[in-house]
Amino acid sequence: MDRDRPVARQDLDPVAHEHGVHAPELGEVGAGMSQAPNALRALAGLGVEAEARAVGVPTYSASNLRRADGRYLRRAQPGDPTPLLAFHRADLHRVLLDAVPAGWVHTNAEVTDVREDGEGVTVVAGGTEYRADLVVGADGIHSTVRTRLWPDAEPPRYLWRTAWLGVAEVAGVPGDLSGSVTMGKGDLFLVHPVSRGRAYWALLTTSGAAGVRYDDEKAAALDRVGDWHDPVPDLIRATPDRAVIRTDIRELPPLSTYVRGRAVLLGDAAHAMSPDRGQGAGHTLEDAVVLAHALATEPALDVALARYDAERRPRDQATARGARADGARTASRAGQSAISALVRLVPAGLWRKGLAPDGNPTWRWQPPTLPVVPPAP
Ligand SMILES: Cc1cc2nc3c(=O)[nH]c(=O)nc-3n(C[C@H](O)[C@H](O)[C@H](O)COP(=O)(O)OP(=O)(O)OC[C@H]3O[C@@H](n4cnc5c(N)ncnc54)[C@H](O)[C@@H]3O)c2cc1C
Repeated sequence: MDRDRPVARQDLDPVAHEHGVHAPELGEVGAGMSQAPNALRALAGLGVEAEARAVGVPTYSASNLRRADGRYLRRAQPGDPTPLLAFHRADLHRVLLDAVPAGWVHTNAEVTDVREDGEGVTVVAGGTEYRADLVVGADGIHSTVRTRLWPDAEPPRYLWRTAWLGVAEVAGVPGDLSGSVTMGKGDLFLVHPVSRGRAYWALLTTSGAAGVRYDDEKAAALDRVGDWHDPVPDLIRATPDRAVIRTDIRELPPLSTYVRGRAVLLGDAAHAMSPDRGQGAGHTLEDAVVLAHALATEPALDVALARYDAERRPRDQATARGARADGARTASRAGQSAISALVRLVPAGLWRKGLAPDGNPTWRWQPPTLPVVPPAP
């Protein structure tokens, strides 16, 4: 198969293709993800730690590092702890949704316009106009709130990489499925075990152009890593064709503020980052706790929003910079060789220390304590 062979150009609206514009309903979306200790603390801050842990599965992806031929650069030992939990996205969405009072979430309501006038915000959604004291734009990397109210913000930039993602039914798939990362030829294959005996996988590769589509995405993924060690090809084969997702990797150039009057950005709308530190959704959860805390404890709205901006923007943007640098390293053969050499040099004890819940500065984040709010009548 020709690499980067464009097909079906008439379908090449990468934004709509990858993200959908808005969800018609809540359902089985996306694939999987891992969450690190900082994100698990954010979930605790939101009051859903037990529920999240109940659907998360420990993953050893930071302990099992392999080469394409299957050799281990580093291997988890029996009894090793891991601070990372892997989730099927739909499971984590359900946990968050269940924590919201019934009737508060409306689907099938695309926001098409947002206007801010200092006193409040007017939002047009699903053809109806709404007036709000505050609007939180949590509408992803191609945020409508951001494009309307931050007209000078640079658009997301393509990082010359693309990813195939899937969730495989793993019964009968040979090989280690406890979580791993395999590097080869500038490509990276990640596996996490997720709920109900399934495995989430992601293949990140370099790519010449954004928006390239293949007639058969699954075959295109196999074309790159079909000769890699077990269980790499079998996981791709064990994924239903329609469940193989393709997404180009982009990041949002840093914003100078998350706040515009009575509108505020959160999550990928504010700081979409390269996935290489597995922190995009984790930082989204952190944003949510910090914003909720600022709004609950600060009587003046503008002061609360300024506090949120000052607390979140430096951290989000520093993690995004780190993720981009990590991605640039893992996306090159030379970078992968350097990582392999380094991994072999680090003594096992030091490596294990780095996998403690406070093993690196990003993971050490602690949430503020939200005041207890009486249940809505
Ligand atoms: C390959 C890959 C792997 C990743 N792995 C991890 C990981 O392991 N761990 C991690 O923490 N993060 C990971 N991430 C990052 C993570 O996916 C994002 O950071 C996270 O989904 C951002 O959440 P969000 O709610 O801000 O945006 P989104 O998840 O994009 O959600 C935005 C929502 O807004 C809706 N929307 C958009 N526009 C409109 C509109 N106009 N009107 C109404 N609704 C609208 C969309 O339908 C969607 O429901 C990964 C990303 C990629 C690409």
